[in-house]
Amino acid sequence: MDNPRRLRPASWLVAAGRPSRPGEPLNTPLVLASNYLRGEARAYARSDGTPTWEVLEAIVGGLEGGQAVAFASGMAAVAAVFELLPQGARVVLPESCYQGVTNLALAGAARGRWRVRQISLEDTEAWVKAAAEAELLWLETPSNPLLRLADLEAICAAARLRGVWVAVDNTFATPLNQQPLALGASFSVQSATKLIGGHSDLLAGVVSVRDEALLQALRQVRELNGAVPGALEAFLAARGARTLALRLERAQHNAQVLAERLEQHPRVARVHYPGLPSHPQHALARRSLKGFGTIVAFELRGGVERAEALCARVQLIRHATSLGGVESSLERRAAIPGQEHLPPTLIRLSVGIEDVEDLWADLEAALA
Ligand SMILES: *Cc1c(COP(=O)(O)O)cnc(C)c1O
Repeated sequence: MDNPRRLRPASWLVAAGRPSRPGEPLNTPLVLASNYLRGEARAYARSDGTPTWEVLEAIVGGLEGGQAVAFASGMAAVAAVFELLPQGARVVLPESCYQGVTNLALAGAARGRWRVRQISLEDTEAWVKAAAEAELLWLETPSNPLLRLADLEAICAAARLRGVWVAVDNTFATPLNQQPLALGASFSVQSATKLIGGHSDLLAGVVSVRDEALLQALRQVRELNGAVPGALEAFLAARGARTLALRLERAQHNAQVLAERLEQHPRVARVHYPGLPSHPQHALARRSLKGFGTIVAFELRGGVERAEALCARVQLIRHATSLGGVESSLERRAAIPGQEHLPPTLIRLSVGIEDVEDLWADLEAALA
């Protein structure tokens, strides 16, 4: 769906993807269909989609400044991008990013499907050089869980000169804080499970592109591999997206307040948040992000037991994995199998939309 009235993002989120003919429901209903009567454009949902998926695609695609294809999960969206690579392609990956993406890339490399090189997200010069010897640069910025940033503008410019694909996992920023396609990235990927859905009640993923050939290629991969979004999940993700601007604004305000207070707390050794002047890439964050996001990571003084105790003692904040819901949650990331390389006391806090004073009181009590 195009945006002839040039609606700003918060209005687009509310208005996009709605029916327009008089007498139709204001919201596209939850359409439960695999099969359609012969003769119309649609025949079968896996190949031709459903009206319910298309609402989610219209909302997210428009927000990213491109066109979107929705998938069954964030990882299905990621896998669809990798699937487009020619045999033996050279992929460059951040040293630290979402573990599912690293695992997928390394598993494919082990099977000989592609080759993977990992470089530090902050090392812009290395990424610019890598553009000369790769088919895909995979970026995740800000990254999960260390909140490192990539200089998208510089890296996309270098990749464009060489015709190299840049894919950006834009889950932490959301298209409200960062628009990779406008900077020249070929793909922007969302785990809609997180902030887009926003209520921890669904799995979905979305890839947005500007290039028509890539759009068709992604649709074909979805049809062939069958990682289609569930009808209810797409409906709920679109419903969640309607309030994304409000939720993001509130949650990232809360995150900034909590990050600043945590940094002053005697039990806290280090806080990772792009909105803090102490963040090593704060200048880049200010230049490249409209907001600093809803995820704060922090390391505790003392041992792992302190971090475990914090997880056990929070009450309003829930001890849970995943992120991006209206409810605040936290966990010790190095406790996750495969994540032992992370700082042992690193807590990843996903900040929700509660009253920030209640969140702080909960954290303070659990830290005491
Ligand atoms: C959660 C997440 C994913 C994977 O999304 P799923 O919906 O869980 O498959 C990918 N990238 C990032 C940054 C994530 O946080």
